[in-house]
Amino acid sequence: MSLIYLDYAATTPVDPQVAARMAQHLTLDGVFGNPSSTTHALGRQAAQAVETARTQIAALINADPGDLIWTSGATEANNLALFGAMRANLRKGRHLVTAKTEHKAVLDVGRRLMQDGYSVTYLDPDPDGRIPLERMAAALRPDTVLVSLMHVNNEIGVIQDVAAMGALTRERGILLHVDAAQSAGKLPIDLRTLPVDLLSLSAHKLYGPKGIGALYVRQRPVRVRLEPLLYGGGQERGLRAGTLPTHQIVAMGEAFRLAGEVMDVEQHRIQELRDRLWRAFAALGDVALNGSAEYGVPGILNVSFAGITAEALLTDLPQIAVSTGSACTSAGNEPSHVLRAMGCDAVRARGAIRFSLGRWTTVEEIDLVAEAVTIAVHRLRELSPKWDQQRQT
Ligand SMILES: *Cc1c(COP(=O)(O)O)cnc(C)c1O
Repeated sequence: MSLIYLDYAATTPVDPQVAARMAQHLTLDGVFGNPSSTTHALGRQAAQAVETARTQIAALINADPGDLIWTSGATEANNLALFGAMRANLRKGRHLVTAKTEHKAVLDVGRRLMQDGYSVTYLDPDPDGRIPLERMAAALRPDTVLVSLMHVNNEIGVIQDVAAMGALTRERGILLHVDAAQSAGKLPIDLRTLPVDLLSLSAHKLYGPKGIGALYVRQRPVRVRLEPLLYGGGQERGLRAGTLPTHQIVAMGEAFRLAGEVMDVEQHRIQELRDRLWRAFAALGDVALNGSAEYGVPGILNVSFAGITAEALLTDLPQIAVSTGSACTSAGNEPSHVLRAMGCDAVRARGAIRFSLGRWTTVEEIDLVAEAVTIAVHRLRELSPKWDQQRQT
């Protein structure tokens, strides 16, 4: 059996249509010019391609194209949003509010800011991974500059109510940054109505290439002030210097355009596949859903099978590509910081497996995975003396 890929939340393959667009902007016969070279047609064509892509991305999130800054991905977008906004608004204060369930690209920036004398509040989630509005409200202070919350969690797929959060922050003159790496193209995002000031995007979670993303920086009604991380050629309104990677940018544009076209149908199809997989797992008994049954994206299913470590199960299933914890942290052997923050005990956290589905997941694959996991869980539970004891008591 060939490998079944259920790790779309870690990264996606590039859509062939996207790869074709990308290839047109690399070689001598293509649009390879530097978008800043306004002295000749090739540069101007490249600049035109970059602006088309900006418009395509803006269209998916209903934003003004002029509010998008290219970055190398969501990691850099998060860094620019947090360092940038905190450093540019010292007169307001030095306090940042975020959550314990954020991506490391936010948590680690918070830690660095603390070393620089900023103060950071890390909010606890409820057991289902959601941050209650009242808890966020209670953390806000007169010197709070920025709140940073992810829209959809990459490990458990939980959706935060960023509209309600934004209403609160806006009312108090506090900036809201949203990491939308896992939600863009999967949930509707409308920045004309959402009170969000900064928003991070990544191409490779949405069938674009790795190494390209964007930060939305609102200019209306109030212009968000940011201090750049990179200085140089003055590209991107001076907020992000460096020659624009035309091929990456047009690819991201095409990926986001495609996503807008297929989102509704695709998400509906993926939701049905995830429900099918969950029904098969639930039939095994003693299976816990990590996350929220009510507020989750279709593509992510995070579960713990009682009595079994994720490591043991995955060793039994080399033909299935999934994640334990999240891909970014599974290099270390720590149980997931997200699950621990939600109050999961270490055993359940170590047993957690993330199945993430995407554009090319088929019903046949889901049925094969359900069957293979069922056999492996039965086998491992029979081997486990601890599980026997648990069952008998
Ligand atoms: C993948 C991911 C990131 C990092 O994005 P890159 O483009 O790989 O740097 C940040 N936040 C979330 C929620 C993610 O899923």
